[in-house]
Amino acid sequence: MLSFKNGHSPTWYIFREEEILVFNESNDIVLPRLPSPDMLGLDPIRTKVMGFPDRSAIHWAEVNAGTEPPAGMEFTSRRHLLDVLGEEDFTPAGMAYHYMDWTRKTQFCGKCGNAMEDSPHERARLCPRCGHTVYPVISPAIIVAVEREGKILLGRSPRFPKGRYSVLAGFVEPGESLEEAVRREILEEVAVEVDQIAYFGSQPWPFPHSIMLGFTAKWKSGEIMIDENEIEDAGWYAHDEIPNTPSTRSISGKLIRHFIENSTGKMKDL
Ligand SMILES: [Zn+2]
Repeated sequence: MLSFKNGHSPTWYIFREEEILVFNESNDIVLPRLPSPDMLGLDPIRTKVMGFPDRSAIHWAEVNAGTEPPAGMEFTSRRHLLDVLGEEDFTPAGMAYHYMDWTRKTQFCGKCGNAMEDSPHERARLCPRCGHTVYPVISPAIIVAVEREGKILLGRSPRFPKGRYSVLAGFVEPGESLEEAVRREILEEVAVEVDQIAYFGSQPWPFPHSIMLGFTAKWKSGEIMIDENEIEDAGWYAHDEIPNTPSTRSISGKLIRHFIENSTGKMKDL
């Protein structure tokens, strides 16, 4: 089994439901490198090798929900993978998941029910009976660092780990510009109006198929009144009062670090 951790064989991203197969190491995550998942004794539902003009090919496989991990391996959460691997190494794993999930959800045509197949011309799923074509779904979500007089707006969702706070985020709705989504989301979640909305950066977020579009904004009016269906606490925090926040491997962490750096006027290594 050791020989599957190194060498020149490709990395295989092997998924069981929402989890990914890795070697079970105490302090590290090692993805399997091997010519084929068959060598691990697995019998995947489907496998695919996808080529790209600007990056290495991606090899993925999906196994049945009841599949037991091979000896010395485990299925682990993809969020754990992001924390351990870092953004750069996580990206191909995220792409593999995104394409795997899209493929398993487009086995049948949503218009006529016929079996779908890969388009020979483009990265799409095609119904040979009615011609319906489906492209990978990417759901845009905005994430915003709102500042008010040297303090940043942070809130916590009931879904967060204990004690964790972050900048607010939400999905873009049909018919909205990104700026409108920023204004609406902050108004809905904490009843605060914002302006001076500026683009910050973006990050693919394959949980399951989003892209996070980061913005900064300034408080315009209103006092915090939380929507208890969405968040359980929110407040304004100065740079030296920041609670437990996400790592800078995520765009939320980068937005918070940006606020701290602007506040203190110097680089901080978080
Ligand atoms: Zn069809």
